[in-house]
Amino acid sequence: MKKATKLLALLLSAIMLTSVLTACGSDAAATEGQDTTQAVDTETDAAADTQADTAEGGTLTFGTNAEFPPFEFVSANGVIDQYDGIDMAIAKKIAEDNGMTAAIENMEFDSLLIALQNGQIDAVIAGMTVTDERLEAVDFSTPYYTATQVMIVKEDSDIAKAADMADKKICVVQGYTGEVCVQEMGYDYEAFKKGTEAVMELVNGKCDVVVIDSATAQKYVDDNEGLKIVEDPDAFESEEYAIAVQKGNTELLDKVNASIEAMLADGTISELGVQYTEETSAE
Ligand code: GLN
Repeated sequence: MKKATKLLALLLSAIMLTSVLTACGSDAAATEGQDTTQAVDTETDAAADTQADTAEGGTLTFGTNAEFPPFEFVSANGVIDQYDGIDMAIAKKIAEDNGMTAAIENMEFDSLLIALQNGQIDAVIAGMTVTDERLEAVDFSTPYYTATQVMIVKEDSDIAKAADMADKKICVVQGYTGEVCVQEMGYDYEAFKKGTEAVMELVNGKCDVVVIDSATAQKYVDDNEGLKIVEDPDAFESEEYAIAVQKGNTELLDKVNASIEAMLADGTISELGVQYTEETSAE
């Protein structure tokens, strides 16, 4: 449980909302031109398609990638169908606050923003970091959680800071901000579809370090013997998670923001953080 306490500290920092928009380094321009989200730059008439459904009594469909505990994962007792986690509880509350029912579409992380732009889903809730590049494609809500990239290594690893990765085999997850960070540092890496796959490479000694978001890293370290987390705040800046909606869908964005701000103010989001870090650590 003491690891849950560490996570609690991380979660409590969610209320310290800053305006950092890049995942690593302070140079926002560094991410320009990299097609990591594969988001298409379209005009958003499609916003009208989904707005009609997001009225009272309707269904609010969130896209996620349920491979990111404690934020979203598949469980027998999910809060929305089989989907459980901090984000899923937040999604359910946003829908309820607005007289709607929440539905989840589970897909690859890389496909989320395209599905949003196409009107296949109304919003994305996926532990998604606000970045300048993504802001070109979609609008983001008020941030609800502050995270950072960390390094997961074997307990006996000599990696103590990000620069120590220079001559190591690095694993990341495709399309995550961790991949962008490692790219910006100029290191070679291998990208996997799922966090669990990258962590298995590390466990099996096929890679030396996995760069991934802090709370999810803690979950993997809790679940696998012989791993530890190495932090380097000078190399990895803080990131903010927010909900994405189609560009210009201010009607939905206002509803989402009202719910998020209420949940931040009354402690709901902090409580969810405690609940889900304890639950996932106890497994
Ligand atoms: N926060 C990271 C990103 O936005 C990873 C999110 C996720 O895997 N769900 O890229």
